[in-house]
Amino acid sequence: MVSPEEIEQLVRNELKNMKSYTPIEPTDVLSQRVDIPVAKVIKLDGNENPYGCSEKVKRALADYAYYHHYPDPEQRELRKALEKYIGVGADQIIAGSGSDELIDLILRLFVEPGAKVINCPPTFGMYPFSTDICGGRTVSVPRKADFSIDLAAVKKAKDKRTKIIFVASPNNPSGNITSETEIIALLDTGIVVVVDEAYAEFSGLTLIPLVTKYNNLIVLRTFSKWAGLAGLRVGYGIFPENIFKHLMKIKQPYNVNIAAQIAALESLKDIEYLRSTVKAIINERERLSSKLSQLNWLKVYPSQANFILCTVLNEKAKRIHQELQGKGIFVRYFDTMELKDCLRISVGKPEHTDALIAALKEIC
Ligand SMILES: *Cc1c(COP(=O)(O)O)cnc(C)c1O
Repeated sequence: MVSPEEIEQLVRNELKNMKSYTPIEPTDVLSQRVDIPVAKVIKLDGNENPYGCSEKVKRALADYAYYHHYPDPEQRELRKALEKYIGVGADQIIAGSGSDELIDLILRLFVEPGAKVINCPPTFGMYPFSTDICGGRTVSVPRKADFSIDLAAVKKAKDKRTKIIFVASPNNPSGNITSETEIIALLDTGIVVVVDEAYAEFSGLTLIPLVTKYNNLIVLRTFSKWAGLAGLRVGYGIFPENIFKHLMKIKQPYNVNIAAQIAALESLKDIEYLRSTVKAIINERERLSSKLSQLNWLKVYPSQANFILCTVLNEKAKRIHQELQGKGIFVRYFDTMELKDCLRISVGKPEHTDALIAALKEIC
């Protein structure tokens, strides 16, 4: 009989002490934890679309007759539809099981053990997570106080082993944009620049047109946030031809399941409805931001996404986070080196804003 210790010996060394990713939890789990019915839970921790997906998605999924067949490994119909949506040729687009899968795939293409990846915290946790799994080394170049990228420090951090830099724009959790000029400065360093535009529909800004001009620029997008499809896992990337050909070759053949492909296609057919929910969320973001700003114990940061970051100034961030949970309101709490006493609040419906503000006034 082999002992657990002997198996432990077989595990890759660099993964033994790796930190796990901190994911958000589903509504039913949250509901049980605080003993509040699912329907009463106000979930403002995942940057999800509170209006849900298009009705067309639900109908098409119910009517589909070929779930017993494998999906198209080349994602032809979806890539064609995306070509129309974003205005770049299908021969530069690859879909993934969420953009998370594409982050992993890009790292697998470029990163061998010991290779370096530049990360600019505070930002999305998947970049260092997937870098670790590939055996790469994350080089942290913290953002400046206004959450902009420290270009000089990035240039200094870059060396011969540096392969990639990840930049979320709008950034999660700070909500700010990185300008085209700044991205071009990063592209000029010669490493692969991945611009993660998971929230682009809320900012109305994109760098997709630049991908045809730069051989080292990748832009990632997703249906999770604006289209309300987080649970079905579908994202996509726009790649230069020289990178596209390798990724198409190394991706899992059936990486985007049929349900996700149908849902994405139907979403693109119901774009007017989805744009109306995006617009409602943007309006609500501005209302939420001004209500939060009225609380003098919060410092509220401007956001171009569907969430708002605040610093809690009275040192009660942890308690406020917990007491909100007790009332069935879930927001994200950060207490890292780069983010002390911070809450990230996803923009919900107007009634969610009202409940949150009332609860915050009661708690503080
Ligand atoms: C939510 C998020 C994603 C994840 O997108 P999926 O398509 O659901 O995997 C990617 N990047 C950022 C910055 C995000 O906040």
